[in-house]
Parts: sequence; C-alpha cells; structure tokens
Amino acid sequence: MQSTMQDTPLSMAMLLRHGLDTYADSKVVTWLGESGRTSTYAEVGETAARLANALRRLGVGPGERAGTFQWNNAEHLAAYLGIPASGSVLHTLNIRLFPEQLAYTANHAEDKVLICDASIVPVLAKVLQEMKTVEHVLVVGGDADVREQLAGGSAQIHDFHEVVDAEEPTFAWDDKLDERSGASMCYTSGTTGNPKGVVYSHRSLFLHAMAGCMGSAFGISDRDRLLAIVPMFHASGWGMPFQGWLAGADLLMPDRFLQAEPLAKLIEQEKPTFSAAVPTVFNDLLRYVDEHKTDVSSLRTVVCGGAAVPLSLMKAWHERHNITLIQAWGMTETSPLAAIAHPPADAALDDWNWRSKTGRIFPAVECRVVSEDGVIQPNDGQAVGEFEVRGPWVTASYYQGDDPSKFSDDGWLRTGDVGFLDAKGFMQISDRSKDVIKSGGEWISSVDLENALMGHPDVMEAAVVAVPDERWSERPLASVVVRQGATVTADELREFLGSSVAKWQLPERWAFIESVPKTSVGKFDKKVIRARYAEGELEVVELESKLK
Ligand code: AMP
Repeated sequence: MQSTMQDTPLSMAMLLRHGLDTYADSKVVTWLGESGRTSTYAEVGETAARLANALRRLGVGPGERAGTFQWNNAEHLAAYLGIPASGSVLHTLNIRLFPEQLAYTANHAEDKVLICDASIVPVLAKVLQEMKTVEHVLVVGGDADVREQLAGGSAQIHDFHEVVDAEEPTFAWDDKLDERSGASMCYTSGTTGNPKGVVYSHRSLFLHAMAGCMGSAFGISDRDRLLAIVPMFHASGWGMPFQGWLAGADLLMPDRFLQAEPLAKLIEQEKPTFSAAVPTVFNDLLRYVDEHKTDVSSLRTVVCGGAAVPLSLMKAWHERHNITLIQAWGMTETSPLAAIAHPPADAALDDWNWRSKTGRIFPAVECRVVSEDGVIQPNDGQAVGEFEVRGPWVTASYYQGDDPSKFSDDGWLRTGDVGFLDAKGFMQISDRSKDVIKSGGEWISSVDLENALMGHPDVMEAAVVAVPDERWSERPLASVVVRQGATVTADELREFLGSSVAKWQLPERWAFIESVPKTSVGKFDKKVIRARYAEGELEVVELESKLK
C-alpha cells in the first residue's frame, strides 16, 4: 500500500526558509573579544542569498564545492546555510589541519571557491598555491594588505562583503532539491592515512538537526541562546548552527575567542542557556570561573563530548557552579550526534553512575557491539567489542570510496571505539582500536609522528601512543630507540619534528627505550607501551608545553 503523504524533500533550502519565515528577529551574535556584533536571522538570510548569487556568478554550480576557512561567526553561518540551500556543496575546511593535509582536503573535494576569515589568512597563505582547483577566495574582513598575502597564485582574491553586497538580496531557493544529494562535507583525520571525506545529504542534515532539538537530546527551542563553541569546521559544529536555526534560537558565535577569559565574558554578557564543547574547553573555563567571579547561571545545560568527559569535571561544575554537564558521543561520520548520556527518568541528576556513561543511543541510530572475531555481542553491559553503528545520518562510505575497511559487509560503520552497551541503550567506551590521538578535540596521527621521527638520522625506531592528559584529554607520548652510538635529546627531536608537524601536535612526553615492543606479527605493540606508561615503568622526559 502506498502512503497518502506528500513527498516533500527534506532540504537545507527548507531549513533556511523555515528559520527566515518564522524567526526573522532571532539573533546571531559574533563575539569580538569584549563585546558582540549582533545580526538578525533576516540579515544572515540576506547575506546567504547574496552569497548564493555571488557563487553562481563565480562559477560554482549545483553540486560543486565551496569551502569555508572560518571561525564561528555570522558570515560563516550565512555560508553554512546559503551554500547548501543553493544546491552547491559546503566544504568546511579544518583550519587546524597540518598544511599538507589542508591542501589535500581542498584538492580532494575540488573546492572552486573558498571563504576565509581575515584573521586566518596567514594560515591559508601557506597552502593556497597547493590548492589546485580553487579559483576564487573571498576574504571576510581585513584590508587590501591582508588580501595581498594570498596573491601571486592563480586564484583571484576578493573582499567578501564587496562581492556579496553587489548581488541581489534574494535567491530562488530550490524547494525541489534532491534530499539524497550532497549538501555539505567534512574531512576527518580520526583514522590513519589521509583525511577522509564524509558527504552529508540534505536529508541527513535535516533529520540530524531535528533530532538534536529533541528534549532527549539538546532540547532546543526559540527560548534558547546557544553558545556554539564547537568549531563549525569540526563535524558541523555538532549540528548546532542547523539545530539553532531550525528552532529559532539565538546563536552566540565566539569567533576566534575560544580561550577561557573571553568565553567567560561572553557568557556573562550574552547569557547563553545552552552550550556544547570538548572537555578541554570546559576544563579551562572551570579553572577560570573558579578563580574569577563569573555569572554562569544562565546556562541550563552543557553538553560535553568529543573525548571522554572526566567525572571530576562533571562533578566540579555540578557542585561548584550548579551546572549540568551531559556527556555525548559521536563522530564526523555520524553527523556527529549518536548518543547522549541523559540519566534515565528514575535516576537523579547527580547519579554519577549514569552520568559517567558515554551516551545513550539516539533514536534512529542503531548500535551493536562486535567482538574481534566478528561475533555480535549481547547488550548486557559487560560484553566488550567494537561499536558499529548505522542510521539515516551515519555515513555509508567515505567520499570516493576511501578506506572501505571501515564498513562491515552488511553496511554498518566500524567506529574504532571499543566498549559495551547495556539493555537501556547506554554505551560505555573503554578503549579505542584506531591508532590516533585526540588532543583538545582534534586528531593527531601517531603514524605521521612516527614516520617523521624515524626520518631523523639518529632514530632507529619510534612509537607514538596516546596518554591521558588532564587538560587536553590526550597527548602523544613518543618512545624512541636511538641508533647505537648516537646521542640525541628530546628537545632536539621535538625541534626536528617542528619542521613537518603542526606546533600543537608536538609531543611533550618522551621516553628513550631499548626497543619497541612488538606483537607476534612484528607490529608495534602499543598496548604494552601504554601499560608501561600507566604503571610508571617508563622513564619519561617531559618538555615544557608549547600549547597555550
Ligand atoms: P570526530 O570525528 O573528530 O568527532 O571524533 C570522533 C571520535 O571521538 C569517536 O570515534 C571517539 O573516539 C571520540 N569521542 C567522541 N565522543 C567521545 C566520548 N564521549 N567519549 C570518548 N570518546 C569520544
């Protein structure tokens, strides 16, 4: 039997129009450090329309990619909505990737136009010449001298507002967009090898935005003011820009002011009701508000995830500031929201047994635990294995079919996260099978660090593992075997790495060992190194951190 229901495509055009038609007066505040610059949804929608016209004029057709290289701000939001709603594809470039990886992602996605914030022009300037398909760059803010830094290659450099303001303030948003076509894309470096692209569809973004607004998720309405701290270049900022827009909530965008002090000022002045970010942000903020009297009472809920959230952090916010931190789990590949640890109805908010769980599986997302030998485990809260997930906002492949091994034969995504699931749908991560390090919410490839280190003439072998870090969740520990007769210090090795690795990725912890422990098939046995570190058996040199 056919249904009698209308077949309205779920699209970003629909999402954009809903926010505009229903919540034209809702606010978007871009933080400037000491105060905010406020726009209305109507104004952001107009910029989105002008930008859509400009992109067509610059040759970006339906299905073609326009990239953003931006912090969270009103212009980025206009691009977030306008690019996909016009039928083109938004590619959010991760400004924290190492230059070669950045260029790789722009080339792989074949970005034709980039929109770049003036404050990060110097970062783009280092790699723009390597981005072979980029024909135009629109710089938001800054003057001619700033834009000059990008000149000299084949891409034409423009002032964003000059280009956009010259266009019509309306665009014929296409209501008939194919809901299964690509709307936006994001690369993840949370696996080994080159970053992999995930292409979100109109349908997946729309459904994910609706699910995020549910009471059992973020519970967002137009009474809310969302402090969107998660960078929009990382897993769609956890969908907050889309959820907020769909619900008509005010959106508070911190731009580049992600340190504790300006965030605290923003909270005090703009009074967000809801926020979400990785543990590092709330750890830093906690230290700040513990020491500087700050009114954070406007926050009803804070969602924390992207890395394991320490119980001590949740307790400290609860006990000292009356703020509820709820842990969530997800991945770039899952749009990202897939689980959130609201305690069950009969448990109190300070029932730490529940609160410390990684998350409770979202509606429409299915999760199973699979043992190393491929057997599906019972959801009994004990049997351990890798989590595999599927659902309407879980990717079925990587762009251009990269790394098919991350998908099971029957189409589930292999997450690389290991743990158990209970009968109420709560998951608990206990380990990770993927060989990567997550520091402050961003990935560091242990394999890249090892390869770079083994390029040093005095290094015979090097193994890098993730070790727990109070501030950054994890940091790399480099275990090095030095060639016989050679002498080299940790400082020298870090300096050497600095020529090929982003500064924030450089290890502080170094161990000089006789040999790297190996598995029966001769692979580095990183479990053994991690265990030795945890037991305090390794002699570790700790260099001063270069991170702010
Ligand atoms: P990303 O794609 O960069 O968002 O990273 C996703 C990965 O971050 C997951 O596969 C996990 O390894 C890790 N992750 C996310 N949330 C959590 C959490 N609540 N606890 C532990 N690890 C997490």
